[in-house]
Amino acid sequence: MAYLRSYGAAETVTGSCHVLYIDKGPTIMVDCGMYQGSVEKRNFKPFGFNPKKIDILLITHAHLDHVGRIPLLVKEGFRGKILTLRSTMDLAEVVLLDSAHLMEEEFRTRFRKALRIGKEKKVNKPLYTVDDVEAVFDMPIEFVEYGKTVDLGKGVKATFRNAGHILGAATIEVSFKERGRTKRVVFSGDLGNRNDIVMQDPQNVPEADTLFLESTYGDRNHKGIKESEIEFKQVVTETLLERGSVLIPSFAIERTQEILCILKKMYDDGQLPECKIFLDSPMAIRATHLYDLYHEELSKCCNDFLKRDGSIFEFPYLHYTLKPEESKKINSEDSCIIIAGSGMCTGGRILHHFKHRLWSEKNALLFVGYQANGTLGRRIVEGAKKIKVYREEIAVRAHVHTINGFSAHADQNGLIEWMEGFERLGKVCLIHGEYDKQKIFKKAIAKRMGKKAHIVAPREKIYI
Ligand code: ZN
Repeated sequence: MAYLRSYGAAETVTGSCHVLYIDKGPTIMVDCGMYQGSVEKRNFKPFGFNPKKIDILLITHAHLDHVGRIPLLVKEGFRGKILTLRSTMDLAEVVLLDSAHLMEEEFRTRFRKALRIGKEKKVNKPLYTVDDVEAVFDMPIEFVEYGKTVDLGKGVKATFRNAGHILGAATIEVSFKERGRTKRVVFSGDLGNRNDIVMQDPQNVPEADTLFLESTYGDRNHKGIKESEIEFKQVVTETLLERGSVLIPSFAIERTQEILCILKKMYDDGQLPECKIFLDSPMAIRATHLYDLYHEELSKCCNDFLKRDGSIFEFPYLHYTLKPEESKKINSEDSCIIIAGSGMCTGGRILHHFKHRLWSEKNALLFVGYQANGTLGRRIVEGAKKIKVYREEIAVRAHVHTINGFSAHADQNGLIEWMEGFERLGKVCLIHGEYDKQKIFKKAIAKRMGKKAHIVAPREKIYI
């Protein structure tokens, strides 16, 4: 009988890695992501299975917690085939190269420091290097399209459908025959919100014998996106009218494109005071170009912009600053909007802008994404009066605003509404969520759908 084991993202959010074992069929892995945050040490532990025995890797989307360990999988012997959307693979290249560069850089810094105290042997080698990332793209890759069923061999089929969330994100249905009966197992991947400005609504799936459902925000409902947009517009307008600048630390994928669309709409509606907007993040610039390239997978709003302007995101106020010299020139600009990484202020160009603008009370710092514990972003959100940037102390005098309503993930209502779209839904298994939050979600599913959901434990054998 076919079964599945989760080797990551079980009772935790990150490290997505699930393996489906089908009798006399191929062994199929869905995602191979990195553990992040407090559980990141798990990346250095063995996978728990033999990578050589995996025949096929299906990828739901290009976030690091879904693709981040693929270079390691290849390094440790995976020789199968990769199937995903072309947009996901292009985005994964941007994400994985950035991750490898960061790890190599961190290793060099730690090694140098450890050498001085004679402890260099204790420094962990980077999980993988740029060469390891390049090896992934030399593997056999088959590109799929939304809605078209592909044959995985031995009677096993897969269908990818648009999941919203980020460019290329998909839910994946795998079907196979067992004792004369067709069985369907569905992986939700990460699900987006309905009516998103950039992404399409997550598509419904008709049937599942077993559904593996993400549960990141299964415990709560987001603050209305409309209110968040209003708050965002207010901070931007007021700051610019007072001749101040707005700093927006932003994640390169999805949040940046969402912010750019909101700003463009403000411009269209005559709500945006004249200013320069700098997208000052090479990774975000690359990702934005990919969003343009694969526009067919995006919302109607994006495609309307494209039809009208020849580009989704560009408009007269927007400037891309790819090169370091271009980035430095921003320092002499007055009253502008700067969007830069990293999203949680743990590195990247945003730190340079902090040095130049955070000390002045005419400026605003606008957080539009989650700030994890222990990050510089979180310290500022919690009211730090001073911070250290490159060993220099900077006073936090700019107005700090946190807007919580932007999210790439469906909330509890969104997840349940998506589940209600099934014509036939068998077992529901929760993955990709913190255990405490999953327990709350499980209760909500019981109450609203009369359905008993199961919280998947790490490496638990789940029969399909
Ligand atoms: Zn994701």
